[in-house]
Amino acid sequence: MITENAPAPSDFIRDIVAADLQSGLHTKIHTRFPPEPNGYLHIGHAKSICLNFGIAREFDGTCNLRMDDTNPTKEEVEYVDSIIADVKWLIGGWADYRLGMKPKGALPEAKEIDGKSDFHLSAIRNPQSEIEFEPFYASDYFDQIYEYAVQLIRKGLAYVCDMTPEETDEFRRLGKESHYRVRGIEENLDLFARMKAGEFPDGSRTLRARIDVSSPNVWLRDPVLYRIRHAEHHHTGNKWCIYPMYDFAHCLSDYVEGITHSICTLEFEVHRPLYDWILESLDLPRRLPHQYEFARLNLAYTVMSKRKLMQLVNEKLVSGWDDPRMPTISGIRRRGVTPAALRAFAYNIGITKYNGLTDVSVLEYAIREDLNKHALRRLAVLRPIKVVLTNLPAEHYEELDAVNNPEDASAGSRKIPFGRELFIEHDDFMETPPPKFFRLKPGGEVRLKYAYIIKCEEVVKDDAGNVIELRCTVDPDSKSGGATANRKVKGTIHWVSAAHSIEAEVRLYDRLFTTPEPDADGDFKQHLNPNSLEIVTAKCEPSLAEASSDLRYQFERLAYFAVDKDSTPSRPVFNRTITLKDTWAKEMKK
Ligand code: ATP
Ligand code: MG
Repeated sequence: MITENAPAPSDFIRDIVAADLQSGLHTKIHTRFPPEPNGYLHIGHAKSICLNFGIAREFDGTCNLRMDDTNPTKEEVEYVDSIIADVKWLIGGWADYRLGMKPKGALPEAKEIDGKSDFHLSAIRNPQSEIEFEPFYASDYFDQIYEYAVQLIRKGLAYVCDMTPEETDEFRRLGKESHYRVRGIEENLDLFARMKAGEFPDGSRTLRARIDVSSPNVWLRDPVLYRIRHAEHHHTGNKWCIYPMYDFAHCLSDYVEGITHSICTLEFEVHRPLYDWILESLDLPRRLPHQYEFARLNLAYTVMSKRKLMQLVNEKLVSGWDDPRMPTISGIRRRGVTPAALRAFAYNIGITKYNGLTDVSVLEYAIREDLNKHALRRLAVLRPIKVVLTNLPAEHYEELDAVNNPEDASAGSRKIPFGRELFIEHDDFMETPPPKFFRLKPGGEVRLKYAYIIKCEEVVKDDAGNVIELRCTVDPDSKSGGATANRKVKGTIHWVSAAHSIEAEVRLYDRLFTTPEPDADGDFKQHLNPNSLEIVTAKCEPSLAEASSDLRYQFERLAYFAVDKDSTPSRPVFNRTITLKDTWAKEMKK
């Protein structure tokens, strides 16, 4: 397994990058991560972020965070902000590297783009400052992209087409030429300028590349380069009413930023000939970027497209984009997963050319590995039942030593209070247990972790027959680690002192869907797990009153937890990040 300190991963894309450096084709590697700000980033994007920023980091190159913002009607500043926050969180641990954020306000100058100078935008490495830096925006290049479109028209390689979007689709499907394909250059230039000037309504005209309507690759069948959209853009305001299509804007944004390796998911493989056609058709003096494709992440038990995630949010099936059950980076963060665990996951799954379904156990493994090393151990009881130690006086009080993390001696130890009345987990007592039940039962003994062996002498019930209290005796010679602790019992359970415990709201999250491929039948909402959230009021050891959102906790014998943003000093709230063991694997075997 690759950890953060282990050697960098190797895969076919990194092999290409290494070979390009070795051969001298490139002296500096420049990648980019280009999300469209039309939703929050999800764990699939995390794979792409770790790949693009990872390559830049490993090969001493640069990676730009670029908003691929060419569709004004779907994009919003809220999404831009969330993307910046998520990327910073995910790669922020690589503190040596403030990747690809450009100084605020500084835009590429036209002369650079026109190729009169060989200068290209250099992204900034600056470990000191983050506030002054902002991402790149494809919409900052709209002027240049427009000029490139004019250049294509001048070369006879693009024309204004008056067909409706439906007709255009139909003609492209059938491999038929548009009647407007023969329009002269002057007329095209005039019409395109008037499109830009706002003379025509939405959908009335497009600018199309003149390539080959009979190409077996449908993307080359005179694709649309520009469309009319009278809509306000989150970044350019009302400056534009024509917007470049993804395929036109993307390769040119890569060129403008001096990207060397433009890495995307496999669906774009069929777009690559168009990517190359556009760049090769223009007079571009600098080295052209190249596109490489890898298999996207598909993760079991979740859906990942932004459109579907948005449905979950809009239909209030989750509490928001950052609901801890969501596969969004913000949800995963809120759940308590650390960036290091997510990066380890991204590295462990590797980069291939074959689409597949990644088992959640791979993600969960990375999370457990990380939390096991770093989480502070604490005692908390999720479903309390009272225990009274009848052979102790009411005022009995002592403090016991408890280690903070057996995996990390430097985490030290703490004192936990112990008194006559305790809470233990309801599940740790059974009145009529099966044969191999080693926890507490009538007449049976169990060890309280860090404390003593107790024996259950009497079971107290309410009128309805529910067990409400266990009256036990404590063996004073059995103190953990004490000189007299000379005997063993089979079971050890966790507990908290009733008088000193604090209450916390604990949110027990489970998988959001009950089936590995919720969208296989096209109806993912039918497969929502009705038990994906259970809220309990837990009794916790007092030190958890000061729990920090920067730290992670293991409630011993239960699970890993993190402080939620809803937490207040008077009412701490914890999210269950993950159970200690894979409970679903057990379910499957039943
Ligand atoms: P979605 O289809 O989930 O809505 P998208 O592809 O439209 O996502 P973009 O914002 O365009 O989202 O994606 C930004 C980058 O992230 C692209 O380079 C894309 O290839 C990559 N990416 C998106 N989804 C995944 C995934 N599941 N695995 C790996 N990379 C992904
Ligand atoms: Mg996309």
